[in-house]
Amino acid sequence: MESNFVKTIMEEDLKSGKVNEIITRFPPEPSAYLHIGHARAIITNFELAKHFKGRTNLRFDDTNPSNEDQSFVDAIIKDIEWLGYHPDKILYGSDYFDTNYQLAIKLIKKGLAYVCDLNPEQMREYRGTLTEAGRNSPYRERSIEENLKLFEEMKDGKYQDGEKTLRAKIDMASPNMNMRDPVVYRIMHHHHQNTGDKWCIYPMYDFAHPIQDAIEGVTHSLCSLEYDDHRVLYDWFVEKCEMEHIPHQYEFGRLNITNTIMSKRYLKALVESGKVHGFDDPRMPTLAGLKRRGFTKEAIRDFILSTGLSRVNSTVSSEMLENAVRNDLNYKVKRVHAILNPLKVTITNYPDDQVEWIDDVDYNPDNENLGSRKIAFSKHLYIDREDFVEEKPNKKWKRLAKDVEVRLMRAYFIKCHDVVKDDSGEIIEILCTYDQETKSGSGFNDRKPNGNIHYVEATTAKKAEFNLFEPLLLDSDSKKDLFERLNPNSWATLHGFVESALEDTQSEEKFQFIRVGYFTTDYDSSKERLIFNRTVELKSTFK
Ligand code: ATP
Ligand code: MG
Ligand code: MG
Repeated sequence: MESNFVKTIMEEDLKSGKVNEIITRFPPEPSAYLHIGHARAIITNFELAKHFKGRTNLRFDDTNPSNEDQSFVDAIIKDIEWLGYHPDKILYGSDYFDTNYQLAIKLIKKGLAYVCDLNPEQMREYRGTLTEAGRNSPYRERSIEENLKLFEEMKDGKYQDGEKTLRAKIDMASPNMNMRDPVVYRIMHHHHQNTGDKWCIYPMYDFAHPIQDAIEGVTHSLCSLEYDDHRVLYDWFVEKCEMEHIPHQYEFGRLNITNTIMSKRYLKALVESGKVHGFDDPRMPTLAGLKRRGFTKEAIRDFILSTGLSRVNSTVSSEMLENAVRNDLNYKVKRVHAILNPLKVTITNYPDDQVEWIDDVDYNPDNENLGSRKIAFSKHLYIDREDFVEEKPNKKWKRLAKDVEVRLMRAYFIKCHDVVKDDSGEIIEILCTYDQETKSGSGFNDRKPNGNIHYVEATTAKKAEFNLFEPLLLDSDSKKDLFERLNPNSWATLHGFVESALEDTQSEEKFQFIRVGYFTTDYDSSKERLIFNRTVELKSTFK
C-alpha cells in the first residue's frame, strides 16, 4: 500500500512508542451485503495492519437488531474471505453488552448519565440548532439513585420502546451537536440474532463503538469522514469509562463511483422490491454481485489501491473499475470463440457431413500456460449478425459482405456469394465458398482478406445464454426517487453458441470471448444449460 496519511500516523506511533503493535478492525453493521465502497475500508484496515505486521479483527457492529440479520453476518464473512483477507478474530459488538451495561451504570454513578423521558420529537426540540444552544432536559437533574433504579427498570422491560432513554450528561450548549447529551441506550423490544431476547435495551453506536475498540485493544480505529465530529464523543466515552486501553479514531474519505449506488438502504430496497435478483445479482455493486459478474479480487484490490486514501470523499469513474478487471484478465484467461447473435453460414464448396479439426490452437498467445484446444470447421457455421451486411457500405467495413472475402480466425478465407432471406426480407442464412489454400498457419499470403472475424462450427458448438448488463441507474441525479432512475434495459439475455471446448466450463471460470468482451460462467450454468455473464466489454466505451 502506497504512502497515505494513516500509514504515516502509524509509522510515527510505532516509532515514538505510543503503540507497540498495530491493531485495526473492520466494523460492518450486518444489515446488508458489503459493497465496493466497503472494500476501501476492508483493504485499508487489512493492508495497513499487514504492512506493520499487526492484526485486523472483523467486528460486527450489531447493536441495532431491528436492522440486522444472521444471513448478512454470513455473507460478510464470506465476502471478506473472498477478497483474500483473514481476520485475526471474528467478534461481535453484542458480546460486550454486559460490559456496556456495567459501564453505563458507572457513568450514572459518576453523575455523567441520566434517564430521560423526552420523546424523540421533544428531544430534537431541546437539542437546539447549529446557531442556537440547546436546553437542558427537565430530567437532567435526577438523582443518581433514581437514575440507577430507572435504568434497571429499562433493562427489565418495564417500559415501551421510546418511552425512556439513557443519556450522557455533557453540554447542551456545545457547538458540536453530538456532545449535547447524546443518547447512550435506547429501549428496543426486539429479538437479537446473537443475544436472543436477553436484552430490550441496546447501546447506541457512539457509545458501543469506542468501548468495543478499547476492549479489543484496537490502536487505530479507522472510519469514514462522516464520523469526524463524533471523535470528541468517542474520546469522552473512553476517558469517562476509564478504559485501560485508549484507542484513537481516524477518519478517511468515502469512496463513491459514478453511476453506482453506494447506499445500503437503496441496495436493500432494490432487493426487497424484486427489481434485482438478490444481493448477488451481477448488476449490483455488492462484492457478491461483482464476483458473480466476473470481477476478480485482484481487480478490486488494484482499483481500490489506485484510488488512494485521503481525508476527503472522492468520486471516481466506474471506468476505472472496469479497466482494472480488463488489465487483470487480459493475460490470465482463455480467449475463445462465442457467437452472441448467430447468423447461419453454409460453405457451399465444402463436403457434406464432414467435420475438420484444427489442432493446437493456443488459448492465449500471450500466455502459453493456458495451453491449447482444437477448433472445428465444416460446411455449417455461425458468425455474428453484426459481422455481415449485404452490401459493403464503405472502405472502413472490415467484415463480411456479399462478394467480399474475409478470414475466419484460425480457419480459412470465406467469400459470400448469396444470401437467403425469409418472407419479411430478413437475412436468415448466407452462402459462401472457402478456399482450401488459405488455411490458417499455411503461410498463404497471395491475397489480403477484408478483415478477420470469428465463428463457431454449427454441429459441434454448444448452445449458450449470454447475460449483458448496463448500469442499474440511468440518471445520476440522486435527488430523484431511486425507482424513477432505474434503467429498464439493465439486463439483456442473448441466445447463441460457444465453441465446443467450453462444454465443461465450471461456474466462475473466466474467458475473453474474442472481439466481444470478458465473460464469466454463471453459478446457474450447467452442461445442459450454459450461462455466461458479461463482466465488461473488451474496450472501454469511455470517450
Ligand atoms: P450505514 O449508513 O448503514 O451505516 P455504512 O455504509 O456506513 O452504512 P457500515 O456497515 O457501517 O455501513 O460500514 C462499515 C465500514 O465501512 C464503516 O467503517 C464505513 O465507514 C465503511 N464504509 C462504508 N461505505 C464506505 C465507502 N463508500 N467508502 C469508504 N468506506 C466505507
Ligand atoms: Mg451503519
Ligand atoms: Mg456506518
